[in-house]
Amino acid sequence: MIGESDLDAAINVVVGSGNCSGCGACALLDPGISMELDARGFMRPVRKGFQASTGGTGVPAGALESFDLACPGVRVRAQHPAGSRRHEQLGPIVQAWEAWATDPVIRQMGSSGGTLTALSMWLLQTGQASQVIGAQADPENARRSITVQIISKEQALAASGSRYAPASNAADPEALELDTAFVGKPCEASAIRALSERKYGPNNGPVLLSFFCAGTPSQHATDRLVSELVPGEDAEIVDLRYRGNGWPGDFSITCSDGTTKAMSYDDSWGSYLGPTTQWRCKICPDGVGESADITAGDFWRADENGYPLFSDQAGISALLARTERGRDLVLAAAAAGVLTLAEMDVQALVKVQPLQRRRRETLFARLAGTVAAGGKVPKFAGFCLLRLALPRPRESLRAAKATYQRRKKLES
Ligand SMILES: Cc1cc2nc3c(=O)[nH]c(=O)nc-3n(C[C@H](O)[C@H](O)[C@H](O)COP(=O)(O)OP(=O)(O)OC[C@H]3O[C@@H](n4cnc5c(N)ncnc54)[C@H](O)[C@@H]3O)c2cc1C
Ligand code: SF4
Repeated sequence: MIGESDLDAAINVVVGSGNCSGCGACALLDPGISMELDARGFMRPVRKGFQASTGGTGVPAGALESFDLACPGVRVRAQHPAGSRRHEQLGPIVQAWEAWATDPVIRQMGSSGGTLTALSMWLLQTGQASQVIGAQADPENARRSITVQIISKEQALAASGSRYAPASNAADPEALELDTAFVGKPCEASAIRALSERKYGPNNGPVLLSFFCAGTPSQHATDRLVSELVPGEDAEIVDLRYRGNGWPGDFSITCSDGTTKAMSYDDSWGSYLGPTTQWRCKICPDGVGESADITAGDFWRADENGYPLFSDQAGISALLARTERGRDLVLAAAAAGVLTLAEMDVQALVKVQPLQRRRRETLFARLAGTVAAGGKVPKFAGFCLLRLALPRPRESLRAAKATYQRRKKLES
């Protein structure tokens, strides 16, 4: 049996308290750890061995200190990059646009406007990155999602669209290389930002791209959706997309005999995927990718009551430059004809992101409810959570009570 190091003990505390997001940063710090699906369908770190360079007896030097700085189950620190102004709901903004890939194929294939795919391709083509880290369907088993190193336009297009399932992009061994562009969920971007600043100092590390994230659903939800659409099990699935190919586009699967099955975004996310998100995502301070250089989200069109409309149309992303480097990249990509930009009303974006808005406004209460129920919460610094909660005493009380009950149930 493999012994337990101080790093393992620290990881066990995070995983045991339900605060692991499955980002994979601990596996990047220590190659003796790998990320695997657990029984509940989430990626979690598993000790496989100890690194050879330590004589097979220990973890790499400095790994525990780096873990303590970067693990999103231990802490997340809000960023205040030079030249940005802080929006209490959306984080730091240097400049914001409505945006989409100028190439109609990328726009069609992308999750919203295809902006992250277009930027990834352009970074590769212009030599500003040698590889882009992203996530896509596993070619061996399309029901699963895997992290990939993208080096061509074709690979970038294959990795376009959202994967509403576990993938641990921060575990990729190239994630911290200077010639990498890293695409990941906000928790992954925050871990890579913290590690990169430790290694290179502020604003010198790999380019970080992220997206708005409501949370990671369990792999079991995907499996359930597949068996609902293709009863009888044995069908070989050759492709599985959660959305894209339109905006938002359907959850769709393609079988080896060429047949396709689909379910609307609203039904697949609302009834299957969304309800299974892991605990850490319910208490996330940053669903809007504050730690990236550039973040994309859906700029949904709204009905007369302000609720997002999910009827298919040409995709539009909200694109937020968090850093001056991010702004310069977006403007250069637009000047090269890769992105099309239009002015954006930032308050209109907050209105069409009700989940992000409510989660942040009630987060102080959710954290209090978790602690009251005996749970442990990560340290979240600089998000002004109390200031957001104070003007909403009733909503906060309701959220604290509901979280307390949910947490107690989880532990019983
Ligand atoms: C788990 C999850 C939750 C989301 N929640 C929200 C939300 O609350 N609000 C909202 O507006 N939008 C949400 N989105 C959608 C996301 O914000 C849009 O995809 C965003 O607008 C980017 O669009 P795009 O067309 O520019 O991206 P694309 O050009 O389609 O590029 C998407 C990029 O993300 C990478 N990627 C896809 N899935 C994952 C994954 N699971 N882990 C790591 N990398 C991945 C792809 O490899 C690709 O590089 C979510 C997406 C995911 C995966
Ligand atoms: S949150 Fe990330 S770094 Fe922390 S234990 Fe989980 S996978 Fe490892």
